[in-house]
Amino acid sequence: MHPVKILVVEDEKKIASFVRKGLEAQGFVVDVAHDGDAGLTLATTRPYDVAILDIMLPGRDGLSVLRTLRERKQPLPVILLTARGELNERLEGLNLGADDYLTKPFHIEELVARLHAVTRRATGQSQSILAVADLTMNLLTREVSRAGQPIELTTREFSLLEHLLRSPGRVLTRVEITERVWEYHFDPGTNLVDVYIQRLRKKVDGEFAEKLIETVRGVGYRIRANPKSE
Ligand code: CA
Repeated sequence: MHPVKILVVEDEKKIASFVRKGLEAQGFVVDVAHDGDAGLTLATTRPYDVAILDIMLPGRDGLSVLRTLRERKQPLPVILLTARGELNERLEGLNLGADDYLTKPFHIEELVARLHAVTRRATGQSQSILAVADLTMNLLTREVSRAGQPIELTTREFSLLEHLLRSPGRVLTRVEITERVWEYHFDPGTNLVDVYIQRLRKKVDGEFAEKLIETVRGVGYRIRANPKSE
């Protein structure tokens, strides 16, 4: 196991140093950048497992760093740090492809739990391919494709789709999804799940005539079951 490398982009020196010390104590390897441009340069030139991006930064802000990473097809998982009240920024961040967010102030244990969730890989699974209709997911290579066309997913989107694909035809409630995909055992107080389903739909169902992700009004979401003949 190589050490997990974390990039922290945070201009508030106190918070940056609290995060660095807390994560180093847990065995993470941490680099810190104090503004968005320095953060983007590090993120694009060095290999990190996760980036922790503050939204409000001098110069290029966290959302702009995230947008640029995604425009360059950088799949680097991103956890956003937001201040209380930055709801629009938070939702914009999730739409741009952030994997999670944490509202300041937070306990280091919360951040560590999010990091573990984001970096966890599907290991030790007996089944390495999940499929419904012409949609396939390889848990080992983490490749997803529909009708042979590759689909790029963020870590969170992948996890969400994986949970849907593990029980085709079964409805997952928003609470179940929140617990399994985000490991939150509380209501995050946002339409997080709906935002992610919307993003996943765009990528998975997009222009295909046959829609695989179904909404069960008032209950939750499911992925269509395979026909019995398959
Ligand atoms: Ca800041």
